[in-house]
Amino acid sequence: MNVLVLNCGSSSIKYQLLEMGENPEVRAKGLVERIGLKMGCLAHKNNRNDRYETETEVTNHTVGIKLVLAALTNKDYGVIESLDEIKAVGHRVAHGGEYFTESVLINDDVIDKIKDCCDLAPLHNPAHLLGMYAMQEVLPSVPQVAVFDTSFHQSMPASSYMYPLPYSLYEQYKIRRYGFHGTSHRFVAEKACDILGWDIKDKKIITCHLGNGASITAIKYGDSVDTSMGFTPVEGVMMGTRTGDLDLGALLFIMEKEKMSVSDANSFINKKCGTAGVSEISSDMRDLELADANGDERAKLTLDMYAHRVKKYIGSYAAVMNGVDLIIMTGGIGENSCDTRKRVLSDMNYLGVEFDAVKNTDLRGQDDTISTSDSKVKVMTITTDEELVIALDTVKLVFG
Ligand code: ADP
Repeated sequence: MNVLVLNCGSSSIKYQLLEMGENPEVRAKGLVERIGLKMGCLAHKNNRNDRYETETEVTNHTVGIKLVLAALTNKDYGVIESLDEIKAVGHRVAHGGEYFTESVLINDDVIDKIKDCCDLAPLHNPAHLLGMYAMQEVLPSVPQVAVFDTSFHQSMPASSYMYPLPYSLYEQYKIRRYGFHGTSHRFVAEKACDILGWDIKDKKIITCHLGNGASITAIKYGDSVDTSMGFTPVEGVMMGTRTGDLDLGALLFIMEKEKMSVSDANSFINKKCGTAGVSEISSDMRDLELADANGDERAKLTLDMYAHRVKKYIGSYAAVMNGVDLIIMTGGIGENSCDTRKRVLSDMNYLGVEFDAVKNTDLRGQDDTISTSDSKVKVMTITTDEELVIALDTVKLVFG
């Protein structure tokens, strides 16, 4: 059975067509970009490694979706003969506010609630809605599912999700911590427990999703009880171009000195800071590791800061849960950067973590354990797959 997974942005549509079954397989994937601009484009690839790229005007999301469906059914580089073979569509949705604690089948009520959350994710939710409307128009009889970045974290207690702000601001604007990357945190924790033969309901787990965006989650007995991203994805650990935690006073000071507007400041904390800002080299971990190996002092400082900030979150989440059984590293950096894993996880024996430096170096992009066999706390790297989670949730909701 084929499931189409869509991640619609304001000017782009990322897609994957997955064949679901015992061993789900990605049959095709691609990206439509520059929707609404003079010239748009589509890049498509199938599982036979055929590629197709085209430049054409993509006036809106419906045109973009039609382009995707045409590529999927093309007789040369497509993977299905007819659109009837698409049995369901899963949408990644950035923000479900306080409405959604899990993935849901899309209906009018769900669409109204996603609309209601547009204020909380002004760049993302309106675009997801455009994708849903476009699918309803093009394939009206195919069921659609919404999978939210935020829903897994709805289990956080109020003591974790409230900010020390006047309570009325929570009541009036719903300003609170929501957290993101929920599909990834949930997926890697469940996958690790499957591999270990553990019941997630008995365990305390810290998941570190370290990619361009990064967040860390404390999962106690299967529920997210705290996570590092907050009202927006800027809070938490240091990221490629986002600050992570920062003294608000420092931001106000910078705004005044640099005469920044609110919108300048928003772009500054999201795009100009993090590892790119400190290093003035790159937001990409590989570039920083290379520069560090060549003796660049600023790259070293950046990498030390990065690891220090991740380490602090792990320590605080062990404190929050009164212990930890398993620490998971995932995301592009968590899965691939042995250097970051070493910086973060060495010298954590106070917590019962005995890091295995040899296993750590041997392993790259695999699901495996990188703590010693007698380590009280297990440490694993687990490859994440957010599209697969969306497809699995979609199948579960549509076909039971
Ligand atoms: P996104 O948040 O955009 O999905 P990813 O999860 O793909 O990001 O992670 C991107 C990050 O992973 C980049 O900083 C990149 O340098 C890092 N990365 C990927 N491969 C490696 C590697 N082999 N060694 C170190 N870092 C890596």
